[in-house]
Amino acid sequence: MPPLHKLAGVLIVLSVIVGLVAPDAGRGAETVAPAAAPAAPDAVDRSAAPRPPGTPAAREEPPRPSETPAIGAASAVARQVQANELGQIPVIMYHRIVAEPASSLDRTPQELREELTRLAREGYVPITAADLARGWIDVPAGRHPVVLTFDDGTPGHFALDERGVPEPDTAVGVLLEVARRHPGFRPVATFYVNSDPFRMGDRAAEGLRWLVEHGFEVGNHTWSHADLSTLDKAGVQREIGRLEERITAMSGRRSVTLAYPFGARPRRSSWARAKEGEYAFRGIFLAGWRPSASPFHVDFDADSIMRIQSAGKIPDNDCRRYCSAAWLDWLRDHPRERYVSDGDPGTVSFPAGRAGDLAVDYRRYGRAY
Ligand SMILES: [Zn+2]
Repeated sequence: MPPLHKLAGVLIVLSVIVGLVAPDAGRGAETVAPAAAPAAPDAVDRSAAPRPPGTPAAREEPPRPSETPAIGAASAVARQVQANELGQIPVIMYHRIVAEPASSLDRTPQELREELTRLAREGYVPITAADLARGWIDVPAGRHPVVLTFDDGTPGHFALDERGVPEPDTAVGVLLEVARRHPGFRPVATFYVNSDPFRMGDRAAEGLRWLVEHGFEVGNHTWSHADLSTLDKAGVQREIGRLEERITAMSGRRSVTLAYPFGARPRRSSWARAKEGEYAFRGIFLAGWRPSASPFHVDFDADSIMRIQSAGKIPDNDCRRYCSAAWLDWLRDHPRERYVSDGDPGTVSFPAGRAGDLAVDYRRYGRAY
């Protein structure tokens, strides 16, 4: 058996070689200064957004094991609120918001109002899907992030009156109303649109600009609501790229996240993830059945982010266990499994026993108690 110091020497040499020949060895250099690369498809949006602690733009190569940074000590506040930033985050998926539901996916304005009111009362603060994907979670200490997503860009989500004010019984109108009654409940959400956002026609550009100027996110849901699992690479790229061009022209921003229509993945997620010069997403959302892992957790996969359908606990179908009312009950009853913020978006705090769940890229921001 070789002496330990020799073995260590061999390991160091090996890791240097691996570092030199790994296909993404140049990644660090590429990502240090995104603003210097005008061709980066989401440069517009990135420059406007605050930089999260662990955004890949700010990251370097994952440290080699011998250089793994030590996890720091959590703040007194983090300890006091029992912060757990490795806990689960509900990403709620809504479809039509209509007064008279015609399908099990529809919800009424009143049902939306009740669900948002529940979230506000239980200490949730909305963030966008882009915030989640980037690991930028800026909510007060002791509170819980929630992501509200609305698919298919239907008129019940958003409409402007003649004066340019959102109509009251739309999703945006209800969200603004609940936020007025519950200070601290941030009125933001993510809208996954197709070729005719909110059926606004001529006013779509005005509408999308209103949304982004008020902190809402407009995300890509393909041009024609295509089932991407049935398309070849060119078809997938055309469906996403064509819509992306329209969103950018109308809102002035690249979209940061994508949601698969029908939750159906293409044969390769890389086809949907990025196309040089056309689109590059930080996160891709599924139609799932459980809360999302924290973006700082080892299990988080930015190409397959789970969502929960908004619905009550319907006794005779899966919503009894897998829709929003059931999951919000579960998270309330399992407080140690839920994401609890430390109040500082630049650190990732958690109980010491959970350090093994922290993704290596976020280790330098880790704070244990
Ligand atoms: Zn859809």
